[in-house]
Formats: sequence, structure tokens, C-alpha cells
Amino acid sequence: MFVADDAMKDHAVDLCQRLIRINTVNPPGDELEVAELLAAELRDAGLEPVVLESAPGRGNVVARLKGNGTKRPLLLTAHLDVVEVDESQWRYPPFSGEIAEGCIWGRGAIDMKNMAAMSVALMCRLARDGVELERDLIFAGVADEEAGCEFGSMWLVDNHRELVDCEFALGEGGGFNIHLAGKEFFTVQVAEKGVCWVKAEVRGEPGHGSMPRSDSAVIKLSEAIARLGKQGLKAHPTEAMKDFVAGLASLQPAAIRPLLKQALNAKLGPSILKRLPNQSIARPLMAMLHNTASPTVVRAGSKTNVIPSVATVEIDGRMLPGQTQEQFLAELQAVMGDEVELTVMRSLPPVVTEPRESALMDAILGVMAEREPDAPVVPYLLPGFTDAKAFTKLGARWYGFAPVKMPKDIRFADLFHGHNERIPVDGLRWGTEILTQIVTRFAGVS
Ligand SMILES: [Zn+2]
Repeated sequence: MFVADDAMKDHAVDLCQRLIRINTVNPPGDELEVAELLAAELRDAGLEPVVLESAPGRGNVVARLKGNGTKRPLLLTAHLDVVEVDESQWRYPPFSGEIAEGCIWGRGAIDMKNMAAMSVALMCRLARDGVELERDLIFAGVADEEAGCEFGSMWLVDNHRELVDCEFALGEGGGFNIHLAGKEFFTVQVAEKGVCWVKAEVRGEPGHGSMPRSDSAVIKLSEAIARLGKQGLKAHPTEAMKDFVAGLASLQPAAIRPLLKQALNAKLGPSILKRLPNQSIARPLMAMLHNTASPTVVRAGSKTNVIPSVATVEIDGRMLPGQTQEQFLAELQAVMGDEVELTVMRSLPPVVTEPRESALMDAILGVMAEREPDAPVVPYLLPGFTDAKAFTKLGARWYGFAPVKMPKDIRFADLFHGHNERIPVDGLRWGTEILTQIVTRFAGVS
């Protein structure tokens, strides 16, 4: 059996540090240097990676380790861009890749230069050792996930489909542990919400600021936004959510179990979730249960003494699997009122991995049951979106499983896009072992 040894885990740690040191905050992204660094590593191991620029500086890297062709390819994928930082809030510089307090510090440490580092360390080692696989193993390091995937996975799928065509894909969206009431669970993403970004516009009577009017565009829009904040959109329990809650409930004390199940109740759910002991779990649970709409960019007027005739708000809408754009817009309109005119700015459908059961899921569950017998793997519905949106267009079945183990006092959800993003060195080494076991069990020659 092929296992990750110390040399391979050292390689993953070193790569993760080096990747963090290259600033790929998006915008502008500038992922080319990271793509070239990874390509050089892969080339050293005898592979033939290609670096593709979707636009100047926007680098993507793809490499393939040939299998014996018995089965169709498995894709390992990670985005190479990261979100912005507020450096003043960090204990260690965000692009240092410094090791301190047992962790590698820096933007991208868990989202998701760790996965790029683990995947490339694994590809290199399998290539060097000449390990025979039943499937081609493809690695795609992509640009632009944090700003909507246009210059990364979407571009690759539209322009270089033959490079990334695959049957299964392992990427972002799960593989981290969560703690609830003293119990530990690992997530595997099997669904993610759709996106519906909307511009809402209200018209009203203009006038002079010295004579207020209650029917002004600004007042009407404010009232519509306030209703949205108060009421939110509807709950729609999905299969993934039910199984997620059932998984969490299975290890909870008898007194808490029924409470968790009631969280799925569309009417009672919100008030129950507010009472959960761990509120960093309650917010994602709320998002997993409801269509959501967050007002973000508000615009109206340009002069203090002029009542403007138009006011607009951009809304970040997310719809659950099973929901259509039309249903989502109808819900939003009902809450905001008839005077608000909604225009869709961007829309991406929800993703569901169907059927959920597969040899890859079996490998994930099998390896995790052996390695972490006390921490069950629960299916996860991601409230955000990932490169799954693009790669599933190829017909690939996506599992969000970028394995990382956090200690009890560091929550994945707090670090994700948060200050002081870091990954425990041990958690990265553990992840490298787990990824290696899953990939070789699934794609190796038995
Ligand atoms: Zn990410």
C-alpha cells in the first residue's frame, strides 16, 4: 500500500509556505507566478504541466499523471487566488508563510493553497515512484475562484475542456472538522447553493431636500431592505441538510437530538438555531436551510439637498438545491414589495452530487472510518459556491473534500476568509496522508 511518508509531507508543508508567500489577492489575482511555481515542481517530477493564461497575469496550471486507462480520470483541484486581508488585524504577516504556534500563517493557508500543496506533492511522488493507476489523475490549479471563476475553472471548462474532462472531482467545500457539544465531525460537500445576484431599484418622486416626502425612492427602498432584514426568505429543507443534521444528531445526547431535528422545521427552525450552544454553527445552518438575500451595495442621490428619484441596492442572493431562479425571485419580490424592480445581474444554478454514493465516496468514508473512527463524516451543503459550478458542467461528480484537521480551539469557519488564517502543521500533514490514502484507494490498481 502506498502511503505518504515524511518526505512527501515535508514537501506539502514547504510548498504551502511558498505558495502563501506569493500574494494572489483577487482582485487582481495575479496567479501566474503561483501557477508557474507549481508547474516547475510538477516538471521536476517528470510530468508535463501546462500553464494557461486566461488573461494577462491570470495563470492556471494543469497536469496529468497517466493511468492505465481502465477508468475515466479523477481531478484534484484547488483555486490559487485568495481574498483580501486587513494586515493590521493579523498576529503574523499574512503573506509570510511563517511557522509559529504550531501553524503555518497566511492568507490561503486553509482556502486553499493547502490543497494545491497537498495535491502537487502527491502527484509528484506518484510520478517519481511510478505508481500504477487505473485512472488518469489530473491536477488543476485555477485562477479567480474568489471573484466568480470567470478566469479560472469556467474559462478552462469552456476553452480547454479536453485537459480537465473527468468523471470525478475532489476540491473545496468540505474535509474539515467541526465540533458540536463535545463531539467531532468531518464534512464532505455533496451540494452547494446557487447564486442569484440581483439589482433592486425603486423609483419615487424627486424634490427639494428642505421639504421631505415619505414616498421618496430612498425611503421606500429603506423600508424594503428593512423588511428583508427582518423576515428573510423561506426555509426549504433539502436531502443534504436532513442527512447533515441526522449525522450531527447521531452523536448528541438524547436531550439535544430532538432539538436538532426540529431545526429542520421551517417555522420553528430559526428560533431553535438561535439557542444552539455553538453559534458559529448556527449561522451556516440557517444559510443551509433557507434561500438567502444579503443587501450589500446601496446607491442613491448625489447631492445632500436633492431628493433623488431612483435608489438601488445590490443583493447577494443564494438559492437552495431544488430551487429555480424564478422561485427565488418570487420570494424576494414578495418580501421587498411590488414597487421594487428586480434585475438579475448574475445567476449560477445550485449543484448537487447525484447519486451521492460512489466508489470515491466509499473511499472517503472508508479511509476516514479507519483513521478517525470517533468522528463521523457528514454530508455538507455549502452555502457559498466553488469551482464545482464549472467542473460539474463537464458531468463530473464533485466531492468537496480538501482534508484538514483543526484542533478543538481553532474553528475552520472562523479562519475561512477571516483574520489570522492559518493551518496547523500537523493538520496539513494529516491531510496529506488522508488525501494520499483516498486517491490511491480509489484510483490505484487493486
Ligand atoms: Zn476557497
